Amino acid sequence: MSFVCLIFAAILSATACPPRPPPLIEALGEARTLRPDAERAIEVANDVLRVAREPFRIVASWQLNGRGLREDELVVYLVGSPLSPRELWEERSKLETLITSITSDLGEINPDASNCGDKDDCVGTLYPETSIKVVMDVLNRQNTWELAKTSPECRCIVLMEQHLLLFRIVFGADWARYILLMRYDSKDQLQADLDSGRVPDVLLESKRVPLEAMVAFLLLHEVGHVTKVPLRIPMRDNADLAAFLDRLSSEQREELRADSFIVRLLAARCFRQNPTGLLLDTCYTPAVLSMLTFVVGMKGKSKDALCLRYLDTVAGYPNWQGRLLLLGYQYEEVVGKGYSLLTDYLSTRRHLLEKASTSESKVCRDAALRFSANRSSPASGSKVIDGPR
Ligand SMILES: [Zn+2]
Repeated sequence: MSFVCLIFAAILSATACPPRPPPLIEALGEARTLRPDAERAIEVANDVLRVAREPFRIVASWQLNGRGLREDELVVYLVGSPLSPRELWEERSKLETLITSITSDLGEINPDASNCGDKDDCVGTLYPETSIKVVMDVLNRQNTWELAKTSPECRCIVLMEQHLLLFRIVFGADWARYILLMRYDSKDQLQADLDSGRVPDVLLESKRVPLEAMVAFLLLHEVGHVTKVPLRIPMRDNADLAAFLDRLSSEQREELRADSFIVRLLAARCFRQNPTGLLLDTCYTPAVLSMLTFVVGMKGKSKDALCLRYLDTVAGYPNWQGRLLLLGYQYEEVVGKGYSLLTDYLSTRRHLLEKASTSESKVCRDAALRFSANRSSPASGSKVIDGPR
């Protein structure tokens, strides 16, 4: 803060001067590529907050033009990366190659294992090892991404530009064609059916999550961390759901609390009014993300891959697929679907946990240890709160 600004602040108000950027921004600088996407997302998030009469507004750091924050404002920063431009490009390029290899992978299965489900050991032989390895590679990368973060001390939200760009590569890919391809014996046969118009258009419409919609979703999640909204999930006498929630650490519960805030706002805005454009995409984000997350991991059938898909493998966070299904389930209170997907997930998760501690897989044993630690000593204390991973 400049000396002049300090004097103005003392005479006028604390909002006269621009906020001091958080340490991460001072260390890595601000990024610019996704500014237009962030601006559109901020408009949607502010619209949702305004209609819900929540006392928060979001403003981009680059739109402050030297002014300070008003009392109800949170400032958004887009952070750069410590990697060089070439390294950033290589990281994205490698991920693109991986996604291309998944989406062009024919649905080759082992006929002897075709009746095996996720709870059966034989499911590990359903797909070729090379297919499973590529899926694992993508799931492991996803686990390292931090898309957004905030902290109780900072009236700010930090968006990670590079990780958002990586996210777009995964969830912007043509997964509809991949799903279709799995139903065919060969790519040539699919192409022939496409050429002769035998494939209905609806099967070719790829559901994607536009990056701006994902950013709006993230912004609302981060605002959720700033609120005191309690976590309230309807239990429906489901023992698996009760056990799932009971065994979460306080950090994991905090993530679900911020997720619940999104549901509370979006359900009211999306299902009782008539959303259009980017707001409609934001309304669909939890459901489409959940569906695509399932599709991306579909061939992940080894022990390690199943534990990545079902168990908590990132410290402080509930499993990503589980979070999305829980979001869908809470939406369900408003619109009427989603419960059976969540109950299937929870039942398979319990089954894997029962076997995980004795498994030969390190991923599984680590996740089982994390789960046991939650029972004996739930984590506590404040921390930097990271966005959905
Ligand atoms: Zn969070």
